[in-house]
Amino acid sequence: MLKEYLAATPNPSTEMVAFTANLEMVARKNPQIARLILQELIDQRSYLKLIASENYSSLSTQSAMGNFLTDKYAEGFVENRFYAGCDNVDAIERMACDEAKKLFGAEHAYVQPHSGADANLVAFLAVLRKKIQTPMMDELGQKNILAISKEEWDKIRAAMGNQRLLGMGLYSGGHLTHGYRHNVSAQLFEVYDYNVDEATGLLNYEGLRKQLHEIKPLIFLLGFSAYTRNIDYALLKKYADEVGAVMVVDMAHFAGLVAGGAISGDFNPVPHADLVTTTTHKTLRGPRGGMVLCKQEYAEYVDKGCPHVLGGPLPHMIAAKAIAFGEANTAEYKAYAKKVMENAKILAGALVEKGVAVQTGGTDNHIVLVNVAKLGLTGRQGESALRECGLTLNRNTLPGDIYGPWYTSGLRFGTPATTSLGMGEEEMREIADIIAATLQGIKPALDKKGNKSKAKFILDEGVKAAARERIHALLGKFVLYPEIDVEFLRKHLIC
Ligand SMILES: *Cc1c(COP(=O)(O)O)cnc(C)c1O
Repeated sequence: MLKEYLAATPNPSTEMVAFTANLEMVARKNPQIARLILQELIDQRSYLKLIASENYSSLSTQSAMGNFLTDKYAEGFVENRFYAGCDNVDAIERMACDEAKKLFGAEHAYVQPHSGADANLVAFLAVLRKKIQTPMMDELGQKNILAISKEEWDKIRAAMGNQRLLGMGLYSGGHLTHGYRHNVSAQLFEVYDYNVDEATGLLNYEGLRKQLHEIKPLIFLLGFSAYTRNIDYALLKKYADEVGAVMVVDMAHFAGLVAGGAISGDFNPVPHADLVTTTTHKTLRGPRGGMVLCKQEYAEYVDKGCPHVLGGPLPHMIAAKAIAFGEANTAEYKAYAKKVMENAKILAGALVEKGVAVQTGGTDNHIVLVNVAKLGLTGRQGESALRECGLTLNRNTLPGDIYGPWYTSGLRFGTPATTSLGMGEEEMREIADIIAATLQGIKPALDKKGNKSKAKFILDEGVKAAARERIHALLGKFVLYPEIDVEFLRKHLIC
């Protein structure tokens, strides 16, 4: 494929050469996988991506992760490895940590977590070790964990396993890893949750303060996957301090807005929280992965992510994180972060204008939550109908959800990906119009007894065709990875 591309192209682009070579190497071993990789690009180009947790990473970031760094074991931490020959990985990890600290103004960064879920476990264990295990060992006058007797260790383990965690409820926008019963977090901790006010959809600070005083948790966990308003971390840190709780903020969703300065001051968790966890692939637009930022006093515990929780780090992903953090530390990215937020506000405002119920009436970040139950639909119906019209997004539970977590009452829209494509105000208005027309153009299907289905729906063919055409026109103007000539690759990918 590469030879044909070079022969046919007077001015070959580096991006197309790299991607073509890559795909050709894959195709040599497994043409079907190569075909599926290409098909994923074709699909992502054909649907408008409104999934709030997804984005488009740069081809440079992608190149950093696709190489032999994957072959290297580097358990431990910079310059303290359990494997020989880690000089280059040391340099890469140090660079990624430095870039992260610079980007977020953090005292310490740990870039080994493979995902956001891992990053949370690393943070939880760091708190448990610092606050429970280490003091208990000190009391025994023992520094060496292996020298602790079985009886004493059982006591320490019991103490570590019965600590309280106060996190946001799933229906209010919290994440599975924040104490959902099926998740390990609910087995590790005695979990309590706080919730948004059902009528307003907002957090109640005084209520939270009261809960903190009642529960006195070891960990006060903030952060969300589906909440659209600013949170005053400066104030909440004061409340956490009143009861000696460790404040952990999971900024998995909005890290990119913090990095770009669009969320700042009291709403930026980094200067206030004891520990901050995040993904690197959502708004931050880096490779799939996680990270922990923390105050210096937690650094030594966080850096022991391996052996606490993790095995070997992924050096190729850490290299890609370093690239992405560097990309995020530019004026261009700052403008991007601001635009993500502006676009979300425009999208929310335009939806409201068209009679679609937006939770809290708008947004302060990149997420827009819509209540489709008010249109007589479930989230599942809205999600499927919009996908048929060319828009990809996910259904979401809302506070007090009448349809439960499977069907749901809500839809979650996000602007990170469309903004990465370069879309702005005009496009957001067009998208809002298409969403409103689609949602208002579907009806729940009826079963034989005349009951409304929670999954099936009737979508007017005319509405669908018009929506698809408008989405097609939009995507034609904002092409994903425009350097990649998909038609050429499709023609030459011999399988
Ligand atoms: C996405 C998300 C995570 C999990 O990240 P993964 O990389 O999918 O493990 C954790 N916390 C929050 C708040 C999230 O939104």
